[in-house]
Amino acid sequence: EGKFIVGGNWKCNGTTESIAQLISDLNAGTITKDLEVVCAPPFVYLAQTQASLGPPFEIAAQNVWTGAGGAYTGEISADMIKDLGINWTITGHSERRALCGESNEIVAEKTAYALSLGLKVIVCIGESLEERQNGSTLAVCCAQLKAVAEVVSDWSNIVIAYEPIWAIGTGVVATPEQAQETHAGIRKWLAAAVSPEVASKMRIQYGGSVNAGNCDVLAQQDDIDGFLVGGASLQGDSFITICNSAV
Ligand code: 13P
Repeated sequence: EGKFIVGGNWKCNGTTESIAQLISDLNAGTITKDLEVVCAPPFVYLAQTQASLGPPFEIAAQNVWTGAGGAYTGEISADMIKDLGINWTITGHSERRALCGESNEIVAEKTAYALSLGLKVIVCIGESLEERQNGSTLAVCCAQLKAVAEVVSDWSNIVIAYEPIWAIGTGVVATPEQAQETHAGIRKWLAAAVSPEVASKMRIQYGGSVNAGNCDVLAQQDDIDGFLVGGASLQGDSFITICNSAV
């Protein structure tokens, strides 16, 4: 249920000039599918992106603070994102969990606060290589989601991005079977822990080394409802091809 949804996470990349070029390439691309597409530039390029990126592309923040603004030097609040007229944020990207010390509880708090302002949130989850190898993939993903379930009751503005850490930026994409199996497990957990309705409506994106060559077969998996794309989202033609893999 719901439209296929592709996100472009530009991470900490770009210059005014390269972003102008990317936006121009995206605007010139032909999207043939009916889907939602959300691009997440670095904060400092949000205004530039807003001023020039046209529909169907929407815009997301890559992160937000846990609550309202105040004496939090260097942070950006969800209120500010909303004030700009931006409707989306990502939370819980594995890079923020690993490099900025964001716990499951902090990610959940950020998610709940952004939702409370009416933002739509792409919540990222995923296991490390060690966790996959010791068989705890679903336990890790579900613990990440359980923290969200403890502070969120309305899941209708949430999209889940399943991004195995070992697949991010490595060129080692999950096989369609691996991704499908985990997505199905996440959906099963949602049905039991939240509700069957939330589970069946939830869009679960796959992220991690998605590119123009591997997107089609992944998109065909029953429980893959979109992608969250890093590296390939910085290349307009690749990103458009990935958007057009929507089923
Ligand atoms: P890559 O597509 O570069 O592997 O990154 C995935 C990702 O982290 C998107 O959020």
